[in-house]
Amino acid sequence: MAVRLEERVGVGGARLVGRAAVALALLGTSWIALSWATNGGRSRETVWTMLQVNPGLAQADAHLLEMPDGSVFLVDAGDLTSDVAGMLRRRGIRYVDKVFISHPHKDHYAGLGPLLDEGIGVGELYMNEPIREVCDQERPWGCDFEHVQKTLRRYRSRGVPVKPLRAGDVLYDRRDVRLEVLYAYDGVTTPIGRTDVNDTSAILLLTHGRTKALFTGDLNGPLGTYLARHGSRLEAQILKVPHHGAEGVAPNEFFDRVAPRLALAPSPPSLWQSDRNRRVREHLQSMGVETLVNGLHGEVTVRLRADSYVAGVERRTPGLRASAK
Ligand SMILES: [Zn+2]
Repeated sequence: MAVRLEERVGVGGARLVGRAAVALALLGTSWIALSWATNGGRSRETVWTMLQVNPGLAQADAHLLEMPDGSVFLVDAGDLTSDVAGMLRRRGIRYVDKVFISHPHKDHYAGLGPLLDEGIGVGELYMNEPIREVCDQERPWGCDFEHVQKTLRRYRSRGVPVKPLRAGDVLYDRRDVRLEVLYAYDGVTTPIGRTDVNDTSAILLLTHGRTKALFTGDLNGPLGTYLARHGSRLEAQILKVPHHGAEGVAPNEFFDRVAPRLALAPSPPSLWQSDRNRRVREHLQSMGVETLVNGLHGEVTVRLRADSYVAGVERRTPGLRASAK
């Protein structure tokens, strides 16, 4: 059964006017058929799918973006066993124009290897190579410098350009749809001194007309606090929850600053429901934010349009607030 949430973005600015209505319709699988049937409409949408890379205990992160002109992007590529390649193949996707890796932790980039192994073509890979001393401070549990280098070498040897992500870079810009890098720090040259690898996460803003979505990688407490107070253009109706929602993540004031209406959390069920995620879970709830978790709801798809967005999930759960209406 599919669940459909629809919200209209307020006219006259990026912010929602008043408390937007969240309408729910239970359409079974028909809403997918309906969407694909209006093929002309597809060109007016940007389709963001939070892939189901969190069915078990391990955490991972991978998002498919299908742009209005047919370009296909990935924001993060999941872990070694996430099977992102299989998910793409089942959609008939054999070529990804651009892959953006938020930061060099394996739950976000180790899926790059299987993409090549399983015959998915990649046009360009955008990934900041970690500074060795930043990476090595998390040995052996976190950052694996040699593995990052090996992965990037594999891509370069296949002729795939490997490019950095820098603040201000525009990654896509067609008509009223834009994907850009708001922030990307190297862990050493930052406004708050040395940080961990999570705080090197590239922060990406996707804009489709007045609809905005913010991708935050695994943004953590220190830089999340800084950005909440000093960052700009962070407001978005839809937020990719940083760091799987786990404690250590950006503070509540960061969530307040973004002020989302809808949050997508890449989190295994056991992690999302654990004490480690309690603060984020409860804060989003207190903000009245509809939160969709792939570990609970399965794959989540958001169709962004110039003045509205629609979200669909694979599974209803008792935790889905709108389903009670
Ligand atoms: Zn992660």
